[in-house]
Amino acid sequence: TDLALIRNFSIIAHIDHGKSTLADRLIQATGGLTAREMSEQVLDSMDIERERGITIKSQTVRLDYTAQDGLTYELNLMDTPGHVDFAYEVSRSLAACEGALLVVDAAQGVEAQTLANVYQSIEHDHEIVPVINKIDLPAAEPEKVRAEIEDIIGIDASEAVLTSAKSGIGIPDVLEAIVKKIPPPKGDRAAPLKAMLVDSWYDPYLGVVILVRVLDGVIKKGQQVKFMQGGTEHLIDRVGCFTPKRVELPELGPGEIGFVTAQIKEVEQAKVGDTITTAKGGATEALPGYKEVQPVVFCGLFPVDAADFEKLRESIARLRLNDASFSFEMESSAALGFGFRCGFLGLLHLEIIQERLTREFDLDLITTAPSVVYRIQLNKSRTDDAREIMLHNPADYPDPSRIELIEEPWIKATVYTPDEYLGPILKLCQDRRGIQRDLTYVGGRAQVTYELPLNEVVFDFYDRLKSITRGYASFDYEQIGLREGDLVKMNILVNNEPVDALSMIVHRSVAEARGRHMCERLKDLIPRHLFKIPIQAAIGGKVIARETIAALRKDVTAKCYGGDISRKKKLLEKQKKGKARMREYGNVSIPQEAFIAALRMG
Ligand code: GDP
Ligand code: MG
Repeated sequence: TDLALIRNFSIIAHIDHGKSTLADRLIQATGGLTAREMSEQVLDSMDIERERGITIKSQTVRLDYTAQDGLTYELNLMDTPGHVDFAYEVSRSLAACEGALLVVDAAQGVEAQTLANVYQSIEHDHEIVPVINKIDLPAAEPEKVRAEIEDIIGIDASEAVLTSAKSGIGIPDVLEAIVKKIPPPKGDRAAPLKAMLVDSWYDPYLGVVILVRVLDGVIKKGQQVKFMQGGTEHLIDRVGCFTPKRVELPELGPGEIGFVTAQIKEVEQAKVGDTITTAKGGATEALPGYKEVQPVVFCGLFPVDAADFEKLRESIARLRLNDASFSFEMESSAALGFGFRCGFLGLLHLEIIQERLTREFDLDLITTAPSVVYRIQLNKSRTDDAREIMLHNPADYPDPSRIELIEEPWIKATVYTPDEYLGPILKLCQDRRGIQRDLTYVGGRAQVTYELPLNEVVFDFYDRLKSITRGYASFDYEQIGLREGDLVKMNILVNNEPVDALSMIVHRSVAEARGRHMCERLKDLIPRHLFKIPIQAAIGGKVIARETIAALRKDVTAKCYGGDISRKKKLLEKQKKGKARMREYGNVSIPQEAFIAALRMG
């Protein structure tokens, strides 16, 4: 295709502002699918994505659009992941485009996530086309939002397109704006092949499918290619695009976006951001911006029923086929039995995997408290040299006397909120050891920037934020590196024995409050026994909080009147059932629910 007739763009928007609905409309308007073929939302295909209204995997569709100038353009619409956890994938998708549609809800205005995405888009030198959506809503204030886009983002919004993606208003104007405002890609057909690996996923029929953006040269079937970062060679056996139906093409030339397959079995071999070139006479320099993503949040996943362990192993392995960014290794816990220690890009990523295991594989799971990765410097001991370890499981916490220094990951968080909620938000951030960096007001809204330890955010920060602002605040973060912290391991002891699944790394300043909270919770959650049960939170040998569960005086059945045998039987049966779901701990039985509830902070 002639470069002048190609337009590559993505859609950036805050969650729920109408990105997917608009994308569907564009597909429909250009005849990519007939009305009958349109399922409700084409681009968000996974159930979880639909329910949560987010995109997890970037997908691209090619639209053929005949513009008012009579020419037919190839529009490549890239749907980027919609969550901070997937920031790197977003950055690669953006790098594959020349422009972006900025969708802003006419009733909600600019939100934190809109801002974060726009800044990234500007960094990639995108031409940004503002689209003010949902103008059909009674609460829509398109003129106010237009002014907001200019004031807050600082781009010209005088020609913003007004749309209602829901009712189809303004869609032809969006298409014309794409052609007129977004610049065509550049590239050299005669140069050695240089294509960026934008995304990859596993397809049961095709194997690993790779989404590419060709910069120079041509990629075609039968070509032997080299992945410059991965260092592997592959034979291209299919080239094509999605309309959104899969269509095979003879080749992809400069400026084009499409897919290739090369009989690759694991997504791990096709890393996002890699550069694809020909094995012979290829490019000598890889594309800039390549990064290996590392999991940042870890937790243990255990089957509620120990008999499900094998099933859990298979299910995790299956999910992992499609998602190289999460990691897992076997773990055993005295409290929870056999399970896996898994690493994720963030909390949402964790929730997605957990939910898919529960739903798609029908597994009942216990998730231990999420933990971040700590860097610990150890001093020399009699048997061991000085060294550095990366700790992602409190169970592996080293002998405290050997610890020289612990560092924890920090983030820069931006919260955008109606100013009436500012007070509680500042308090929340302060309570979580936050350092305020910036605070600005724009038209009844406040934007506040805090530096926060990631460890304080992974528990329940987002839920707390949503509840104190009744869902009106938005939150966005980026990692800013490791900092030294006064961190200690807190053990929870039930009947004087530490329960490994409940131990956690905490900052010394909040340890007591956390410990007290945990003890109080467990006191309510663990059933009484025939003896007194102490529950303690301790750092090393020092108890920092304690509660006691009083002993049970009499047999439960004593509560029933002597004669009612059937009732007594029922009660005993109920007890037995309850027992099956308990973990014996020392001589104390802790019900499964107690672990789950105790681990759910808040
Ligand atoms: P996304 O999260 O940005 O992908 O947003 P969606 O496209 O999933 O839309 C979020 C919600 O807003 C859905 O319930 C849509 O039906 C609704 N929506 C999208 N566009 C419009 C619109 O123009 N007008 C109205 N009233 N609702 C819309
Ligand atoms: Mg969506």
